[in-house]
Amino acid sequence: MGSKRYARHLVLPEVGEEGQNRLKESSVAVFGLGALGSTITDALARTGVGELKLVDRDFVEISNLNHQILYDEKDLDMPKAEAAAKRVNEINSDIEAHGVVADINPTNVEELVEGVDLVMDGSDNMELRYLINDACIKKEIPWVYTAVLATYGMTMNVLPEKGPCMRCLIPKKPSRGSMETCETAGILFSLPRTMANIACTEAVKYLIGEKNREELLTFNIWDSEFELTKVERRDECKTCKQNDFEFLEIEEDMISELCGRNSIQITPSEDVQLVLEELHGRFERSEIKGISMLKVDLEDYTMNIFKDGRVIVEGTEDPKKAKTLYSQYIGQ
Ligand SMILES: [Zn+2]
Repeated sequence: MGSKRYARHLVLPEVGEEGQNRLKESSVAVFGLGALGSTITDALARTGVGELKLVDRDFVEISNLNHQILYDEKDLDMPKAEAAAKRVNEINSDIEAHGVVADINPTNVEELVEGVDLVMDGSDNMELRYLINDACIKKEIPWVYTAVLATYGMTMNVLPEKGPCMRCLIPKKPSRGSMETCETAGILFSLPRTMANIACTEAVKYLIGEKNREELLTFNIWDSEFELTKVERRDECKTCKQNDFEFLEIEEDMISELCGRNSIQITPSEDVQLVLEELHGRFERSEIKGISMLKVDLEDYTMNIFKDGRVIVEGTEDPKKAKTLYSQYIGQ
């Protein structure tokens, strides 16, 4: 099946048989499986990248189905990482996909980047990108930064030791609430797919040993305007020059509001392994979804409890309320 499946790549001088074999030998992690991450995963799976590590903390909701191409109605309420891995196996049984249901944070990001050739950014927030940047520079793993908002996208290849990192481009993390999000600014349907495919083209070039674009690429899809900007590696860059990986240090704040969703997420600061079957028995109305999540109906609230001790409380924007429910039902 292999040679027929990839026939159009095999005749293409830029890839050819050797390139296609290299893709088969490669392993890529996709961090975040929303609109960007879905297209990235779909593209890399069909292209024949041999191993995909698919990481996301969330579950599939009805509002995801109009722009996240990996999922359909039967995946509703399933953890995205599990649904994505299953979908990849249906698309291409030649390759391997591992779904990792986890919140990417300072305690696990180094472990998550371990052992892959390349990391793809499918995330939707800057906090996570600074974490990826620190972990990848520290472990000397290249990654492709990609961001989208409204009609505007940008992407840059981060090649440790060879070029600038994301912190050379944006030295200071924007403060919370200072930036528009996809919730407030919206997003054009075609933008994530376009930017994801541009990023994946660079991924394929890297994996087969071709030279990557060195500039930051920005694209206004509404006006069809591309721009390439040279980014200098900054001598005072904390990450790639001083190797001060401050984002990898554990922060106290493990409660996060999930933008526009009337939900709060609580992530335990220590390693936790919950036995979902056991918890299941404690609730009147609860259902185990996939192998990693327990959905609990508390009438006014819904708790989505993940194996790693993380909980998404739906139905409140009040961190205290969420914390109370957490300690009431999961413990301290
Ligand atoms: Zn840097």
